[in-house]
Amino acid sequence: MNFQPTPDQRTLCEAVREFGRSLNEGIAERDSRGDFPRDLWKRCAEFGIQGLPVPAEYGGAGQDLTTTILAMEALGYACRDNGLVFSLNAQMWAFELPLVRFGSEDQKRRYLPALCRGELIGAHAVTEPEFGSDAMSMASRYGRVGDDYVLDGTKTFVTNGPVADVILAFASVDRGLKAAGISAFLVDRGTPGMSLSGPISKMGLRTSPMGEVALSGCRVPAGNRLGSEGAGVAIFNAAMEWERACIFASHLGSMQRLMEDTIAYARARKQFGQPIARFAPIANRIVDMKVAIEAGRLLLYKVGAVKDAGGDAVLDAAIAKLFVSEAHVRQSLDALQIHGGYGYSTEYQVEREVRDAIPGTIYSGTSEMQRKIIARLLGL
Ligand SMILES: Cc1cc2nc3c(=O)[nH]c(=O)nc-3n(C[C@H](O)[C@H](O)[C@H](O)COP(=O)(O)OP(=O)(O)OC[C@H]3O[C@@H](n4cnc5c(N)ncnc54)[C@H](O)[C@@H]3O)c2cc1C
Repeated sequence: MNFQPTPDQRTLCEAVREFGRSLNEGIAERDSRGDFPRDLWKRCAEFGIQGLPVPAEYGGAGQDLTTTILAMEALGYACRDNGLVFSLNAQMWAFELPLVRFGSEDQKRRYLPALCRGELIGAHAVTEPEFGSDAMSMASRYGRVGDDYVLDGTKTFVTNGPVADVILAFASVDRGLKAAGISAFLVDRGTPGMSLSGPISKMGLRTSPMGEVALSGCRVPAGNRLGSEGAGVAIFNAAMEWERACIFASHLGSMQRLMEDTIAYARARKQFGQPIARFAPIANRIVDMKVAIEAGRLLLYKVGAVKDAGGDAVLDAAIAKLFVSEAHVRQSLDALQIHGGYGYSTEYQVEREVRDAIPGTIYSGTSEMQRKIIARLLGL
């Protein structure tokens, strides 16, 4: 086992860190207004972020999963706009990778190069108002009419939904068929019968727009079905396997940055005539941050190694996601506690880090659902 990045990976991560720092100006204002920074999205594309895992023939860099995890960790570390980083990840793992893996040649050529260039934004729509964790019981319907499919239903909590040019929407042909009845469709903005609304106001990740997608008699050509009929669950599961490693690589980067900020603060802030870092309860909280970051890193890198070797990482991805998301919430609360009243004020932006960390235990499957997956795979 080799945990050392290659020279090429080091060079890439250094470049990503330098680029990521250039995205930080105005983050507090963007966060308070809830603005999606479209100009920065475009700059990320020019740098090559959106194209990292996309094969070169479709406009990307064709990086393997391990290299992409390292790069997205570096971006999460350097870029304090956690919402922007989350939106990028959502497109890369829940839209681009399903296209790379399940798309037809025509679909790949139609969407991937423009997604890599930042000209198109993609979103993944599975959650419904009545079906969240139980998403595969979805109420959204589709039926075949001549050469087209007709979709009806409502999707919610769709990251990038309000700004998306194309939605990957899941629907069932017959709920009686359960998982086998679900298919996925590429629905372009402007298709009659689809309306996008939002953004939904939320606690954190406020620069990442989230919205609702309403489908009413929405007709899409048969060529817009992704994968074969009934492949919806396989597409969804594959997206979640990647997402659970890669989005959380960016969380890990944020955790490293937050720990470094907290160490700097604890060294500088004096009480009782000495830096608060000298007090064991403060130092111990920081030590626990370091332990969690190192453990989370090993879990995430293992997912990359398993996937790059062509293996199945369902269990490893669930473990990594559960561990990193929960450690991030704990760590952000510890960072706030160490910053005292200044942490609770908006001045140091530690409270924003808490707000941005919390949804990690909800999206890509809640902590409870990760424990359920792990229990099932343990035969419990
Ligand atoms: C920031 C953010 C971004 C998101 N982006 C997207 C997106 O791009 N596309 C998309 O489709 N969705 C997205 N979602 C939705 C997300 O996937 C759902 O919120 C999540 O799956 C949980 O569903 P729910 O909110 O309906 O909660 P529910 O499923 O109603 O769960 C409520 C509570 O009950 C628990 N629970 C439910 N079932 C069980 C069970 N069997 N055993 C134990 N506990 C259980 C849950 O863990 C949770 O604590 C996003 C959510 C957030 C917060």
